Amino acid sequence: MFRIEKSRRIKEVPPYLFAEIDKIKAEQIARGVDVIDLTIGDPDLPTPSDIISQMKKSIEDPKNHAYPSYIGMPEMRQAVAKWYQNRFKVKLDPETEVIILIGSKEGIAHLPLAFIDNGDYGLVPDPGYPVYKTSILFAGGIPHFLPLLKENHYLPDLDKVPQAIRNKSKLLFLNYPNNPTSATAGKEFFEQAIAFCRNHNIIICHDAAYTEIYFNEKKPLSFLEVEGAKEVGIEFHSLSKTFNMAGWRIGFAVGNSEIIAALGQIKTNIDSGCFKAIQEAGITALQKDLSETKKLREIYQERKDLIMSGLKKTGLEVEPPAATFYVWLPVPDGYTSMEFATHLLNQTGILTTPGNGFGPSGEGFIRMSLTASTERIKEAANRLASLSL
Ligand SMILES: *Cc1c(COP(=O)(O)O)cnc(C)c1O
Repeated sequence: MFRIEKSRRIKEVPPYLFAEIDKIKAEQIARGVDVIDLTIGDPDLPTPSDIISQMKKSIEDPKNHAYPSYIGMPEMRQAVAKWYQNRFKVKLDPETEVIILIGSKEGIAHLPLAFIDNGDYGLVPDPGYPVYKTSILFAGGIPHFLPLLKENHYLPDLDKVPQAIRNKSKLLFLNYPNNPTSATAGKEFFEQAIAFCRNHNIIICHDAAYTEIYFNEKKPLSFLEVEGAKEVGIEFHSLSKTFNMAGWRIGFAVGNSEIIAALGQIKTNIDSGCFKAIQEAGITALQKDLSETKKLREIYQERKDLIMSGLKKTGLEVEPPAATFYVWLPVPDGYTSMEFATHLLNQTGILTTPGNGFGPSGEGFIRMSLTASTERIKEAANRLASLSL
């Protein structure tokens, strides 16, 4: 009999942790409950119309129908460098320090193939975006979790990484503003991380997908604003959250030219770059006035305020997020993450993500996403007011 034997790397990927909550969701819907789904980190708002208009023009142009350059069109790389200069005052060489990606997830997932050999360690935040861990596993490496604890403002304590693991680590993934905890990092933390990684020859990969979604005057930093960053690392960026372009699949990585070139070497062997029409639409996005993202922040701000006022009435103590479109909520005593997510769903019809789905240190928390419509968020806030713990 023919046998389909999956690779160990596929078998090692943990089972879908949210299967249980999906089951409960389906049960509630079958019973006629009007479920408000706050699990998804996918912007609900449309892509701005000028980006769509550019796409319509670009798709008609036959020069865009050929294979693109694997590192991205020169014009798009220049637009990225200009955007970094305007937004962060960071200088980038568009020839060597910028690479265009098919969404930043693509670059994050491929990067470890360039640096991790069998048995090497990669340091990953816990809780964290699941791709960091799986990409290290897929490359034959061993993920080492760095707990992000509330008492440490959800920053990893690098001094706690055991010496033996430091010496065998090749990569450190960081992500601020952070998914799922919504924490931000200051210059001091990045300086510490750079010093640590320089001492141990560890490459920093900073995932900066949420730098434009923030709620106070202090704008989130690019890691590359910090002295020494370009020597040890790169930064991933995405158009998905900033310009509501999640489905378009376009992002980029910037920073150290050798690291960028190594990622490019992997990509030449796997994909053939991002559709040129999408890159031209991406140029339109990056050339927009920086102030245009303000409207987006105002929408998330309103939703955040609604949810926070609903949560206040429940008596739960929750810090309002400083950035991202997530609320990271400690569950009340006596509940696990899954139990509280289930309780919330049963009592209010609000579906949230149990924090342990993002890693063991996420246990004791749930994540609420603000990517449902403002109307639905308003309804969720009203329902929260009647929640009994
Ligand atoms: C959404 C998200 C991404 C993925 O962005 P794409 O560019 O759409 O692939 C990367 N990192 C984090 C932390 C995210 O939440």
